[in-house]
Amino acid sequence: MTTQTRWYESDEFTRDFLPWLYRTWRQGQPRIEVKRTTPSDVWARMSSFKVPCAYCRRSMHPFRERRGDRSQYCGVTCADGLSGSCSKGASAANATAAISQLIQRHEDSLGKQEGLL
Ligand SMILES: [Zn+2]
Repeated sequence: MTTQTRWYESDEFTRDFLPWLYRTWRQGQPRIEVKRTTPSDVWARMSSFKVPCAYCRRSMHPFRERRGDRSQYCGVTCADGLSGSCSKGASAANATAAISQLIQRHEDSLGKQEGLL
């Protein structure tokens, strides 16, 4: 597992995972979703990826599947934090915003590539 706090800046994340992420917005806040077209081998690596919770630093899996519709997403805090304090703090919002910016930059670079064709 990676222990670095800014794990979303790791090569593995930006090179292998980032292209499969997109954002939805709820009340102006981004949520990081995993595309349904993500290949199963990529998802297998995503779901075994372990990083520290953005708030309590406990080791956790950021890529998870929702109960119900089984959609997949990327969370920056541990599962305990989903209903508790970890997901509520500024550190969670900051980490999500940082990933959101990486997605934005990636989408912008794709747009530029298409523009050149
Ligand atoms: Zn936590």
